[in-house]
Amino acid sequence: MKLVVVDDSSTMRRIIKNTLARLGYNDVLEGENGVEGWEKMDGNPDVKVLITDWNMPEMNGLELVKKVRADSRFVDIPIIMVTTEGGKAEVITALKAGVNNYIVKPFTPQVLKEKLEAVLGVNEG
Ligand SMILES: [Mg+2]
Repeated sequence: MKLVVVDDSSTMRRIIKNTLARLGYNDVLEGENGVEGWEKMDGNPDVKVLITDWNMPEMNGLELVKKVRADSRFVDIPIIMVTTEGGKAEVITALKAGVNNYIVKPFTPQVLKEKLEAVLGVNEG
């Protein structure tokens, strides 16, 4: 299963990638801002999950989410936002833009695991 991870912090991308690897997901594409994230999405319509930061240069995560959701190929793709923006208003803004689940930094690998499984429906039924 192919995933795209977008964050301007290489350390955060590494943390997320390492966590995904431990969960068995090794097919991960990276972008360091929304522009790069969109390029990875656009070139890989078989991507199954997008995990994105909010605050980034060039194009931020909220703009990326709106762009992805506006594309017919990605209408139903699960999107997780990983951000320091933990306020209620920010969460609502993100959900309205099309984010499926929300993680506030700092987070534990267990939280990422649970949120990922939630958007994938792993524990359903
Ligand atoms: Mg950032």
